Amino acid sequence: MASATQVRTYLAHWFQLGKKLIWLNGEAELLPQPVIRGEKFSPQFEDCWQKIMSVDGKNCYLEGSSETIKDLLSSNWDINNCARCNMPVPIVEMGTQSLDCVCSDLQNWPNTELPAPRSPVSNSIQLNSIRSRLDAK
Ligand SMILES: [Zn+2]
Repeated sequence: MASATQVRTYLAHWFQLGKKLIWLNGEAELLPQPVIRGEKFSPQFEDCWQKIMSVDGKNCYLEGSSETIKDLLSSNWDINNCARCNMPVPIVEMGTQSLDCVCSDLQNWPNTELPAPRSPVSNSIQLNSIRSRLDAK
C-alpha cells in the first residue's frame, strides 16, 4: 500500500513535468504551479491535495494513467520507480500489471538534459532513486 507521502511525491513529480490531475473523471483538471516552494510543497499543491482528499481520491487520476488516487491508497498498489525513466509510478502489489508507464505519452522523455523533478521531502522513494542513479554510474 502506498502511503499518502508516496502518493503526494508521485503527484508532485508528474506535476513538475506538466501532467495534470483529472479530478472527478474530468470535472476539473488540476495542475498546481509551482509544486514546490522552498523546502516544502507549495500552498497551491496543498490546495490541490486537499481537493483530492475531499473526495477521498475517488475518480481522481493522473492524466495518462488509469489508477485513481483512491486505488493507490488502497492495499493493492504501491509506488516504485519506473524502469524506463526512474520517476515514481504505481505498481500493483499482486496480480498482473500493464507495462505502460505514465511517461509513455510524454515526448522526449526521459530527458537527462532537463532538471529532474524533485521532492521537497526526504523519503525512501527519493533515496532509492538517488541510490539507483549512483549504482548506474
Ligand atoms: Zn517511466
